[in-house]
Amino acid sequence: MDRPRCKEETTKLTIVYDNEVIKQGLKSGWGFSALIETEHASPILFDTGGDGSVLLYNMQELGIDAKQIETIVISHGHGDHTGGLHSILEINGDAEIYAPSSLWRRLPGRKVTAVTKPVQICAGVFSTGELEGVEQSLVLKTNKGIIVLTGCSHPGVSEILRAASRFGKVSGIVGGFHGFHNFDRLRGLSLICPCHCTQYKSEILRLFPNSYEECGTGLELEF
Ligand SMILES: [Zn+2]
Ligand SMILES: [Zn+2]
Repeated sequence: MDRPRCKEETTKLTIVYDNEVIKQGLKSGWGFSALIETEHASPILFDTGGDGSVLLYNMQELGIDAKQIETIVISHGHGDHTGGLHSILEINGDAEIYAPSSLWRRLPGRKVTAVTKPVQICAGVFSTGELEGVEQSLVLKTNKGIIVLTGCSHPGVSEILRAASRFGKVSGIVGGFHGFHNFDRLRGLSLICPCHCTQYKSEILRLFPNSYEECGTGLELEF
């Protein structure tokens, strides 16, 4: 009898909404959204961009079924991350929402988890907890180590990396870095993918050309 082959679980990360576009035919917009897919859990949407029609358009073009999303994680309360939530919820009646407690408000008929402390969302996916009382980031345990996914990084990239390192050694970071410029903190990471609101992209590229990954709508990363 054949023995079942040992299969490593891959994690796929797709940028659904960003200020830039990587894949032709998709739309850009001010904001951020990414989809996380693993083999043993249903898709997780992290943030929803600023404009619901752009979000749904990109999802359709990328072949993402909004109804299949079982979990929506909101990093923080700014409109460029929450603007598309209403449009998704109109289509998807069941998704569970994880929002920072500072943002939490009742959504009738919805399961909403108000996040303060670090929490496991599903197998291999964790929240850093609400940092500085404003924002949560995701921690993905992948075959290539821990990948951190950020919204705007208002608590600061250093603080987020520190919080994420409680889950193990961080090997990469993807998302908005905002005005972060303590570049030394990125040394040793094998993936640096600054998106959306990152002010110092060109400096980061110049300093870390081998680990730099250009972000944009349609970017697909597999770990
Ligand atoms: Zn923000
Ligand atoms: Zn933002």
